[in-house]
Amino acid sequence: MPVASKLATQRLRVTLRGAVQGVGFRPFVYRLAAEMSLTGWVLNSSAGLVVEVEGAPDELRRFEQRLEAERPKASVVTVRESEWIPTQGSTKFEIHHSDTDSAKSVNVLPDLATCADCRSELLDPANRRFQYPFTNCTNCGPRYTIVVDIPYDRPNTTMREFVLCPACHEEYENPSNRRFHAQPNACPVCGPKLDGAIADSAAALRRGEIVALKGIGGFQLLVDARQAAAVARLRQRKHREEKPFALMMPSLETAREYCEITPAEQELLEWLAAPIVLLRPKSGSDIAWNVAHCSPYLGIMLPYSPLHHLLMRECPFPLVATSGNRSDEPIAIANDEAITRLKDIADHFLMHNRPIVRACDDSVVRLTRGRGGILRRARGYAPLGIRVSRNVQPVLAVGGHLKNTVAIGVGQDVFVSQHIGDLETLEARHAFERAIDDLCRLYSFKPEAVVCDLHPDYASTNWAEQSGLPIIRVQHHQAHVAACAAENNVEGPYLGIAWDGTGYGLDGTIWGGEFFHVENNHYERVAQLRPFGLPGGDAAVREAWRSAASLLFEVSGETDCGDSRPRLSGERSSPAGPLQLSVSKVRNMLERKINVVPTTSVGRLFDAVASILDLAQQNRFEGQAAMLLENEIGSLRTEEAYPLAAGDWAPLIAEILRDKREGLPVPRIAARFHNALVNWILEVAAKSALKQIVLSGGVFQNRYLTERTAAMLESLGFVVHTHRQVPPNDGGIALGQVVMA
Ligand code: ZN
Ligand code: ZN
Ligand code: FE
Repeated sequence: MPVASKLATQRLRVTLRGAVQGVGFRPFVYRLAAEMSLTGWVLNSSAGLVVEVEGAPDELRRFEQRLEAERPKASVVTVRESEWIPTQGSTKFEIHHSDTDSAKSVNVLPDLATCADCRSELLDPANRRFQYPFTNCTNCGPRYTIVVDIPYDRPNTTMREFVLCPACHEEYENPSNRRFHAQPNACPVCGPKLDGAIADSAAALRRGEIVALKGIGGFQLLVDARQAAAVARLRQRKHREEKPFALMMPSLETAREYCEITPAEQELLEWLAAPIVLLRPKSGSDIAWNVAHCSPYLGIMLPYSPLHHLLMRECPFPLVATSGNRSDEPIAIANDEAITRLKDIADHFLMHNRPIVRACDDSVVRLTRGRGGILRRARGYAPLGIRVSRNVQPVLAVGGHLKNTVAIGVGQDVFVSQHIGDLETLEARHAFERAIDDLCRLYSFKPEAVVCDLHPDYASTNWAEQSGLPIIRVQHHQAHVAACAAENNVEGPYLGIAWDGTGYGLDGTIWGGEFFHVENNHYERVAQLRPFGLPGGDAAVREAWRSAASLLFEVSGETDCGDSRPRLSGERSSPAGPLQLSVSKVRNMLERKINVVPTTSVGRLFDAVASILDLAQQNRFEGQAAMLLENEIGSLRTEEAYPLAAGDWAPLIAEILRDKREGLPVPRIAARFHNALVNWILEVAAKSALKQIVLSGGVFQNRYLTERTAAMLESLGFVVHTHRQVPPNDGGIALGQVVMA
């Protein structure tokens, strides 16, 4: 061989880490190498995707560029390492079998909504998968909910029970096929089967019956969203009085008939994760009044599995689609479990024989700052790892109490579980324990310590105390800002702002309006809301009027506004007698300072203002009063603001009372209130002399507040970080706990 050509051949090894399995990465690499006439191999190892290619150096560099530019769109590459290695004189390009020995640090992929190619096959009478409800390919289909172990290969999924037929096998082995190594590949001959007919379920839905459907991450309860009596029956049987239901729409076009949808919101709806998107409803629709009567939004999603597509073709109208459980319990995933637990709720079942390994609720997002702000992170997002800027300790974080998630730290990745829920019931606590076992087993992870909240009564804290592991306690609001800083890779000192409803403070009082100067993992509390008393402590979380009574008492010595008596005249579902009793009891508490817990919570300040304005006297779900108050602003834009200097709410409450008395329209009062909070942030930020600002905590689910705060700070030269991958609410606490350990 001439010397020149010998020199010309080189070998390059590229290692990719991140979400690179189960997205058709290997066939993509195979096709690319074949097209460029390069030799070598690609391997899915449990440490990542490894490619070795041999050829002319220029070609190898071009290969590297195309590898990045043309990679499958569902993939997420967090690390790419390249090295030149000795040539091996390889003569062809091959796909090697997965190795299983090296350390498990590979991301498992989330479940992906049915792709356009599979959708058209589903509806093509000439296709062998015509109307087959388990159609998928490397670009779509279940992943996280069917994977038992990693690496992600068919024998490690619940599809191992189904033996590929010759036609499917041919697709699976053919690198030029869309289904090459599509682990859940299936067809009517060899794949999972429905137990029941879609047409029967559709007929049941039209009759107003409740259908329990086995979906991707568990059972869903479906009902015709236009039939109020049917919706009421679902509410009553599920014990879910007022919390809004999400809807599945047959198509984007139908969704448009019911909601205002901006291009950015359309992108969220059609995203691979297919989340529930909170949208503004149009008026005059035929959606039953009791679907979301306590919320200004409609949560909308599009069909995301072939089964949903087929069902929605038979039911071309909006369906309530809510998790298959009784309120506050985990979602049912197994057939027999669903029959037992849902038999008193559902009239009709539509099941199949593809097992679901773990429960994954539908995720919820809301457009904020031009992107999808995650409010509940589950199907479609979990368990993608969050890459942080430095190595974290190998710890297990058990999160908060409400909207619980757990997380583990593996090298530079933090794997946050799917939304588990509020740890209020025994079933929820079992689900929490299962999620911990599952996450640790999946990643062969042995925690060296457990991280929990400071709150002594959280179920997660109690579990940590009994785990036998060394325990690290982390303050709630510090964890909030640490989470947001970590996912934004914020280096250097920053001003962390954590506003939420409730969290246990370092001084044992209830915090929730906190500013921290953060430097080198040191948190100095530099400002907070002026404390006020919560009469009855935790009872005030649900009963917004208690916060109002407390602030009014401080400002005027009265516990009501002096107009609409009794204060709770707006209440519908509670009898007046007992409430009147609690009003005088609360007054008594305030006067004698008995059972009054001090708080700095901005969430409770929102409650108080919403109550004073008669928008809500109770929170029937977390954040309801605040959501209604935000919604009052609508499209109103004003620079007017109440005074809130140094976080002192007394002048603010006094002016709200004056404006209310004088009949100022509620939207303007609401805007002035929000603007006051923004101005207070500007005041503290200016004083801090820190350039980077990190916003976290459930209060920042408020889009108006978050967007105005960010815009004003940015116009003054600050760099503002808000959540992208985990929710600002307590669903993000576990991430913060890991990075703080
Ligand atoms: Zn597909
Ligand atoms: Zn088949
Ligand atoms: Fe919180």
